[in-house]
Amino acid sequence: MTLIPGDGIGKEITVAVKRVAQALNTAIVWDEVVAGQEAFDQTGELIPQDVYASLDKNRVALKGPITTPIGHGFRSVNVSLRKHYNLHTNIRPIRVLGQIPALHRDVDIVLFRENTEDLYAGVEEQISPDEAHSIKIITRQATERIVRAAYEYAVANDRHSVAIVTKANIMKLSDGLFLKVAREVAEGYPQIETREVLVDNMAMQLVMKPQQFDVIVTENLYGDILSDLMAGLIGGLGLVPGANIGDDIAIFEAVHGSAPDIAGKEIANPTAILLAFADLLDYISLQDDAKKIREALALVLSDANNFTRDLGGDLSTTAFTDRIISQLLK
Ligand code: NAD
Repeated sequence: MTLIPGDGIGKEITVAVKRVAQALNTAIVWDEVVAGQEAFDQTGELIPQDVYASLDKNRVALKGPITTPIGHGFRSVNVSLRKHYNLHTNIRPIRVLGQIPALHRDVDIVLFRENTEDLYAGVEEQISPDEAHSIKIITRQATERIVRAAYEYAVANDRHSVAIVTKANIMKLSDGLFLKVAREVAEGYPQIETREVLVDNMAMQLVMKPQQFDVIVTENLYGDILSDLMAGLIGGLGLVPGANIGDDIAIFEAVHGSAPDIAGKEIANPTAILLAFADLLDYISLQDDAKKIREALALVLSDANNFTRDLGGDLSTTAFTDRIISQLLK
């Protein structure tokens, strides 16, 4: 299994995963490779060849967060990997765990985010020092694929509704195409209730009454923003995993970034990356181990004495991982 620890808190939280994998006695052998800031400092490349070689061979990876300079400098490693391996489907489940202090408790939403195009396609042009353009790319093929994935998930997991989120009232061509294609796909799933929600209204609805949503499918940028908003509803960014799925390859990660403000302090919450690891285990058909991790997290997070700093507690990353492992070994 490829392991990319990543930048910032990446090393701290991926150590937690390695320890948990060992406690579970999984047969996983980690093929650890470095990408991101550290790789750039060492080799001058953000994604060195050995990273591609490892991913090409293993086809499944767990990735820590990677720092991207804001507003200048190199292209995001995450976006590059998603494009290179055509990791078209991004899945982000938003659920309340244990007794975490959350703004809303009864939330259970799965967000499907198109992962390769939209404004993230990286088609930008500097027209003059005072003018820059970003081109929004939406295609029928990518839209159909992500919307179908959302409906198929809904059917397979006994979900009752899918909300299609766009801003098609304003971007009539690009978002208009996404909505048109999504409606066509939805027609094939009459048993699932389909809702169409504009992204601005969706932001408000999610804050006020997230319980009304089940599965959400949307474009790249809206999905990115809404999933952070949803993480905020259920206790924060340290709790939400994400899967980037391609045709025969998948990269699992936490939704959060490298958290430079807390890096190296041993206070990061490893829950999101542990949940991403559980999703990875499901993907490679080790469902029993995945279930054990989720159950251990739910139990440990049912006691406020086990909370890390982001949840209002004082456990370090290592101490929290110790409690998860003790729970697993019971
Ligand atoms: P961030 O997610 O790194 O941090 C936002 C806030 O959430 C910070 O206060 C941070 O301390 C907190 N936080 C995040 N994860 C946490 C955890 N596990 N435990 C406790 N608290 C946690 O977002 P940012 O500050 O906007 O971005 C920092 C860097 O990460 C940027 O370079 C950005 O490009 C990059 N980033 C990478 C990814 C990725 O690799 N998938 C995703 C998002 C951002």
